[in-house]
Amino acid sequence: MRIVIFGPPGSGKGTYASRLAPRLGVPHISTGDILRDEVKSGSELGKSISSYVSSGKLVPDEVVNRVMEKRLSQEDCGRGFILDGYPRTLQQAYFLEGVSKIDFVINLNVPDEVIVRRLSSRLVCRKCGAIYNKITLPPKVDGVCDKCGGGLYQRDDDKPEVIRERIRVYKNEAAPLLEHYRKAGVTVIDFFYEPDEAGRDVSPDTVVDRIIKALKGS
Ligand code: AMP
Repeated sequence: MRIVIFGPPGSGKGTYASRLAPRLGVPHISTGDILRDEVKSGSELGKSISSYVSSGKLVPDEVVNRVMEKRLSQEDCGRGFILDGYPRTLQQAYFLEGVSKIDFVINLNVPDEVIVRRLSSRLVCRKCGAIYNKITLPPKVDGVCDKCGGGLYQRDDDKPEVIRERIRVYKNEAAPLLEHYRKAGVTVIDFFYEPDEAGRDVSPDTVVDRIIKALKGS
């Protein structure tokens, strides 16, 4: 199953994709994680993209396309993949068409105020990349990853002023991409944010169950 997951930053894309992937037996490929790893490694590529990544601006298409083509050629993508954060521009979508077919697009719709609330309380593990939330998904021990014991931190681009810039960038880029996939006849599964009766976010596993049901029904 070759899936692209769309949603604004903070829509739960990464959280849902990382839980969905093992259940479907395919890798979760987060472009943001791959690019941040490059920056961390201090490679030439990492140095050339670090200012884009830390300010929330899109890394140039040709750089991202090269990185993703390499990742998609790896063996674990044989049964499919979940792409999270790619494609983000029409040029990237055209390039991806030359590399692989896409079976489904999952489109997450979440109001802006929910995004700002969620992201300004998001924490990420420095070591394994696991995602937590100070309010909705706290680690068992403050500041420590449940999975690997690594330290948790707030990403530079999860500060409110950068979040607003990332939402603006996303809105400008996503509309033509979704239209492109709809026109191309790819099944687009729309999910709308639904809090529980108390107005809180429902658990990620509940959302993932709903996504799997929708994929099976399509
Ligand atoms: P994310 O973790 O998906 O929010 O991505 C973090 C940052 O990585 C973005 O703000 C961009 O600077 C960069 N990035 C991730 N995916 C892409 C992409 N497909 N094209 C260009 N830049 C990207």
